[in-house]
Amino acid sequence: MKIKKCPNCGRYTLKDTCPICGEKTYHPKPPKFSLEDRWGEYRRKMKRALKSKK
Ligand SMILES: [Zn+2]
Repeated sequence: MKIKKCPNCGRYTLKDTCPICGEKTYHPKPPKFSLEDRWGEYRRKMKRALKSKK
């Protein structure tokens, strides 16, 4: 089984097109480490922003 992902709504499906929005799906295989790193950085920035706003 090959799971695919819709780039438009982020839904996982086995079909070539998204059953929700009809967008063409792709095989999600991003470099996990850099993705996590990105989110970590994003989270840290958000935390900082929230703290400084208050
Ligand atoms: Zn979709």
